[in-house]
Amino acid sequence: MRGFLSPSQRYAGTLAITLSVLIGSTFLKAETAKNIVLFISDGCGYNHIDAASIYQYGGTGTQVYERFPVQYGVSTYMVYVDSLGNTVERGYDPVKAWDDFGYVTGYYTCSAAAATAMSTGIKTSVGALGVDPKRQPLRHIAELAEDLEKATGVVTSVQLSHATPAGFLVHNVSRHNYIGIAREMILSSPCDVILGCGHPFFDDDGRSTTDVEYKYVGGKGVWRGLREGAVEFDVDCDGIVDTQVSDADGDGVADPWTFIQARSEFEAFMVDPPPKRVIGVPQVRSTLQCNRSGPKGKSDVETVETPFSTPFHATVPTLEEMTRVALNVLDNDQDGFFLMVEGGAVDWAGHDWNSARTIEEQIDFNRSVETVVLWVEVNSSWDETLVIVTGDHETGYLTGPGSGPVNNNRRNGTSAVWNSLYNNGRGNLPGMEWHRESHTNSLIPLYAKGVGSERFHKCVKGNDPVRGPYVDNTDVARVMWESFK
Ligand SMILES: [Zn+2]
Repeated sequence: MRGFLSPSQRYAGTLAITLSVLIGSTFLKAETAKNIVLFISDGCGYNHIDAASIYQYGGTGTQVYERFPVQYGVSTYMVYVDSLGNTVERGYDPVKAWDDFGYVTGYYTCSAAAATAMSTGIKTSVGALGVDPKRQPLRHIAELAEDLEKATGVVTSVQLSHATPAGFLVHNVSRHNYIGIAREMILSSPCDVILGCGHPFFDDDGRSTTDVEYKYVGGKGVWRGLREGAVEFDVDCDGIVDTQVSDADGDGVADPWTFIQARSEFEAFMVDPPPKRVIGVPQVRSTLQCNRSGPKGKSDVETVETPFSTPFHATVPTLEEMTRVALNVLDNDQDGFFLMVEGGAVDWAGHDWNSARTIEEQIDFNRSVETVVLWVEVNSSWDETLVIVTGDHETGYLTGPGSGPVNNNRRNGTSAVWNSLYNNGRGNLPGMEWHRESHTNSLIPLYAKGVGSERFHKCVKGNDPVRGPYVDNTDVARVMWESFK
């Protein structure tokens, strides 16, 4: 509650105002981020992190980012366009969310709209990428970074043209237009690093296949051009050049991609000297590891798999190795960089109610964050780099065992119970319970550290009875935009 200020508080306030006037421009300068790294664990709620932490360390609160100084919940709710053409926000009600077990199963967003919100600061229709609900193009944080002559990159453990990486580079009304999305990313955007799956000639087990699929990389002509390191592309393979690659560094000359695919090539580019501009497509179709063969079940009871019990493909890099490649390329730009790293398959494992692979995917994501934290502390500093770790929406409505509606008659007390995951000790699958085969409107966590991270404090939208103060996913964009300017 606001009260009267004591004399010392008044003095402190006057001093702060005086100081800020005196050193205003210097102060603002110091708050400008040279580099921003945004981590998105797709589909990750609080319990996905806890599941990985219990498995990895035997307890919760153990991840490096859980020691970051800035921590909030994030609302991710959807918007839609009504019959009058108005954009309607569905919101998040913290009281209903913890009163009615079913509340969060409505009004949830998708990865495309969520990525757009975090990149541009505008919530859009489900499925849209970088356009508003009226299909007007929005400006991405990567476009701001490019205008500031910074390098930009996206890294994902799923297809490079999937919703989350696309939501930071592309303007397209539908996330399903893979060919057009991939062409915009590869040929039109001035992006410097694109690392993600979607290899035309390999299946989900990393085996070469005759079931060739070019759509995730923009079609056969684009693939051919990438393999040749071409400047000019014959996109539709009719023998006539259609377009050139973009000018990534702003010197007026088109910059061809250095193309890599073998794990050894990723490993080589983890250390200097890196190429100027790199696109890496690991030799696998849809995910690095999540969609490999193995037992799968629709509930933790049916799932006989435990984390890492089904061997990984040895031929593809990890998300952490891909993150190292991206850092090695991007940190050569003296003006700084923007990097988005997506743990894309946490969501896929959640849709499948696959507890073991949820943990595997979240662990690779966690290691990628650790790599960037180490890079900041050795090669940069928290005074020039901002690191944000969050998700895009919760997937699977993951809880501990025994959760659910208790009594629909609210006069008799609480109507639902949410139990914590059951800790079976380090290296053992925790007790996990899935309630929803799709996304939810639950709050998700956000952790931030470094220059500009304190900007989240002024973005608080409300106070959740369980998660505490929360911001909105559009505030991720707001903080990044303000921190880059
Ligand atoms: Zn998602």
